[in-house]
Formats: sequence, structure tokens, C-alpha cells
Amino acid sequence: MRRIENIEVAWIMSEIADLLELKGESIFKIRAYQKAAKVIANLGVDLPVLISEKKLQNVPGIGKAIAGKIEELMATGRINYYENLKAEIPPGLLEIITIPGIGAKMAQKLYHRLGITSIDELEAAVKARKIRELPGMGSKTEMNILRGIEMLRSGVGRTTLGIADAIAGAFTGFLLSLPEVELAGAAGSTRRMKESIGDIDLVVGSGQPDRVIEIFTRRPQVKKVIARGKTKASIVTLMGIRIDLMVVAPDQYWSALHHFTGSKEHNVRIRELAHKKGLKINEYGVFTSDCDVPLPVAGEADIYTHLGLPYIPPELREDLGEIEAAEHGGLPELVEQVDIKGDLHIHSDWSDGVNSIEQIIGKAAEMGYQYAAITDHSKSLAIAKGLSDERLNEQDEYIKSLNRKSENLRILSGIEVDILANGDLDYLDDILAEQDIVVASLHSGFRQDKDKLTGRVISAMKNKHVDIIGHPTGRLLGRRDPYPIDLEAVFEAALKYGTALEINSSPDRLDLNDKYVRQAGGMGVKISINTDAHDIIRMDEIKYGVATARRGWLEKDNVINTMDCGQLLKFLKKKGLTPHP
Ligand SMILES: [Zn+2]
Ligand SMILES: [Zn+2]
Repeated sequence: MRRIENIEVAWIMSEIADLLELKGESIFKIRAYQKAAKVIANLGVDLPVLISEKKLQNVPGIGKAIAGKIEELMATGRINYYENLKAEIPPGLLEIITIPGIGAKMAQKLYHRLGITSIDELEAAVKARKIRELPGMGSKTEMNILRGIEMLRSGVGRTTLGIADAIAGAFTGFLLSLPEVELAGAAGSTRRMKESIGDIDLVVGSGQPDRVIEIFTRRPQVKKVIARGKTKASIVTLMGIRIDLMVVAPDQYWSALHHFTGSKEHNVRIRELAHKKGLKINEYGVFTSDCDVPLPVAGEADIYTHLGLPYIPPELREDLGEIEAAEHGGLPELVEQVDIKGDLHIHSDWSDGVNSIEQIIGKAAEMGYQYAAITDHSKSLAIAKGLSDERLNEQDEYIKSLNRKSENLRILSGIEVDILANGDLDYLDDILAEQDIVVASLHSGFRQDKDKLTGRVISAMKNKHVDIIGHPTGRLLGRRDPYPIDLEAVFEAALKYGTALEINSSPDRLDLNDKYVRQAGGMGVKISINTDAHDIIRMDEIKYGVATARRGWLEKDNVINTMDCGQLLKFLKKKGLTPHP
């Protein structure tokens, strides 16, 4: 059976949904594909396994017709229905609907009325003030379109860390399964765990580069081979992501991995240091500069050892002070995923999550956690089935009963309480006082000005029951800019009132981002690394939050959910006891 990753199948399903929408098909048909995309993206099992066990049609959300198309894709590498749709609809329209704020209806209108089939044509039409003449549109629409194009271009051809990491992991796993391959790994910004990734870089150590290149370029996920040499190849996957593969001799692997991990800025500094020491460093190894004698490199750490430096982890390699810190023994001891003792922001099916509290407990136990907090939405967020006062109370009682039965894992009863437009919280204090943990978040009123937004968050932090501010800037990568908020003031208030700030680990958010994390951590602000998972599979995304913390130079002590359960409960109580002005 040919092998295509689930995430790519999910992507094709969502593209079919988009094409159907552009075609003006029935909403039920569109929703069916959207739903299938979501289900497949979150599936815990590989599709080929389900197909071979004939269980694909039993998966809720995948009907007979869609199952047939997936089987066709797996067997033949293509779906006829999808190819026909693509032939019918100008491909540029698919690109146009990726612009934030432009839906299928507007794209259709732009196409039928003005013949617009690409982003460049759209931009030209805006600049010629043609859009405002269409019914239902105005100069404001033009402005929004321009802003959307700008946003899209700032991340053009880029993908989120979550997708790049999954694809790189799948390819690396496959490459490592080949007898020709000794070593393989992702390099580049994927390895440095940047929030968005342009191309994926893979490095392989093998004595048979031509064989590896041959096999790699024939993978079923490959849509197009851009370049193909004896030791290098570049391809574009079905999802439109570019992967560059470098194959080197196994004894050059670590030097190549280091070189292609970058960043460029970090490498420049490394080469300068090498030069000062009479050494030469490149992707082939470390050499004496006078007679090119190679020095032993049996791991990346050896490269730094030859320079008289301790090992610098990939997440720090940005030339943002890591080399100076390494020279003076000042590198942080970065927090690691094994340090995380629990997740403090999870949604259950009591509000808009998909899993029961029991399923969340099972997953948390599987991850080796000591605790997990159930933080469903509060009552004003009706769209997310926010809990009324009574429902919240009922949930607290239910969690108590579960805790009486649970031996190793403590379930914290919590809430993600909305910070309302006037800065009040969505529950009264006596209700919040009943919670083990309170995450306070903004979910509405983003259009307020900076002072108002900042004031709302700070007034929430002043409340003695609020332990954590959730997703502090509200950004959605590639879709919504952070709201204007004075983070410096927020960091100061966090210190003053003893409130932690969240790193939301969802690859669509990563909020706070690495830069702000470093700033906050440097000031002594406490951080909580949470997933905000609405589905237990996404509790695994904690790794991206940890990576962001590492990119922000955080150590274990900066992060509250590295504490043991007892310590954490004491910490959470402390805030309520300290009087604040
Ligand atoms: Zn939220
Ligand atoms: Zn949430």
C-alpha cells in the first residue's frame, strides 16, 4: 500500500470543501468534507491501517462516499473527483480565499464581476478602486482586503510549526526505516522550532546517496520534484510544502546537521570563532585551517567542544546572545518536556471540547502527568457552550467524586473565565473562589483601543482568584494579528499581583511568542505552558509550548506547571492570601 500521511489527506479534504464552496455547492456537502478533514487531522490511527482493517467507514464523520475517495487516493495517489474540481475552478481562487477576511462568496463575486483569479489581480483591482463599485462592498472592504493580502504575504508559503514538524517527523521516520540510511533528522527552522516554517530541511547520513534520492523523490506525497542531483533533492508535497533533502556520508552527518540547522546568523558567529582558533568549520566537518586535518565529530556537541564552548541547543541558535552566554558560562538550563507535571488549560465536553473528563484523565495519565486542570468556558461564551453558575457547580462536584477514585492523578477543577468588555469577570468572586485554578482570557471586544484592552487584562490580574492569563495577545497565526495590548504593563502587573501568563502551545497560537516569553521570563514573570486542548490528541501539542519556552530561554523554575502537585496547589492558594493594594 502506498503511504500518504493523514494530515495530507485532511488537507485535500479541506481543499475539496473550499472548491465546492467556490462552486456554490450545497452547504451539507461542503460541511461533510470540512468535518472529514477535521476528523482525519485528529485521528489517532494511520489511515492505511483503518483501510486494511476495513474500518474506515466506521469512523464517525467519514461517510461512504468520502471513504471511497480516501481509498482511491491511497491506492492510486489521486482522487478523480478532486482533479475534476480543480480543472473546473481557477486555482488562483483557492489562493484568494486564504486571504484573511475573504470567503468563497466574495471570491466568486470578484471572479464573476471582475474576472479576478489571482492575488496580484486582486491587489491591482483594489488599487484601481474597482472593488468599491461592486454591490455590497465599499472602500472599507478594499482596506480590509489590502490588510488581508499584507498579512498573507508576511507569511507567504509558510506553514505552522505543528504541520512542518509532523511532516518532517513522518519523512524522517520513513527514511530511517530504509536499510540504506544510517542517520536522518530534520534541520533548519523546523529543528529550531520556529513558529512558522518556510521549507523543511532534512539531512541524511548514507553511503548510497543516489538510492536515497531515488526513493525520496518517488514518495507518493510528492507533488513535484523541483531539483534532483546526486546528493540533493528538492520536492513539493501534496500540501504545497517544499522539502530539501541533503544526503552526506555518515561521518559527515553531524557537521551537515549542524550547518543546515542554522540559523545563518549563528553559523556566521561560529565560523568567526573557529577562525580565531585556527579552525575551519563547514558542512563537511571541523578542520585545522593550515593543513585541513579533520578533527573528530561524533555528535553536534563535539563541534562546540572544539571551539571551547558548551553545547548550544538548536532552539537558542539565533545569534541573540547565546554565543556570549556560552562563552561566559551563562547559558540557561532550558526547561524540558519531561519537567512538565500537568496541563492547566483543557476543555472537556462540558463546554466545546470533544472528550469527556474521564478521557482527559486517561490521556493525562498516559503522558505521565501528576495533575490536569479542566478549564471549560464561562457562561457568556454561549457559542462555546459556556457553563452557567449551576453547571460549573455541578462540574466541581463531579470532579470531586472522580478525585476520590483517582489515585495518581489529581484533577483540578478550573474555569477559563471570560474577561468581559468592561473588565469584569464572567462569574462573581464567590464562584471563582470555589475553583482550584482560574484562567482568565479575552474572547471578545478585540476592537477596543490599547488602553482599554490593557486595562481589562490588568483588572483581571488584580482579582485574587485569577491565576493565569490565557493566550495573552489573542493572535491566530496567519489569521488574526495580536490585539493591541501594552505587554510591558501586563508583565509588570503580572509581577505585582503574582499572576502567571500562558504560553498557549497550540501551533496556531503560540501565544505568548518566543520573544515576549524571553522578555517576561527575564523580568521574573511566572509562565504556565498549557495546550488549551479541545481534543485529547492535541494535549500532545505541549511540545510546541515547551519549544517556545526554550526559544524564550526559560528554565524549569520560570514555569509553574513544572511544580509537583502539592507545591502547585500551595502556589495557587498563595495569591488568594496575599493582600494587594
Ligand atoms: Zn480561550
Ligand atoms: Zn481555552
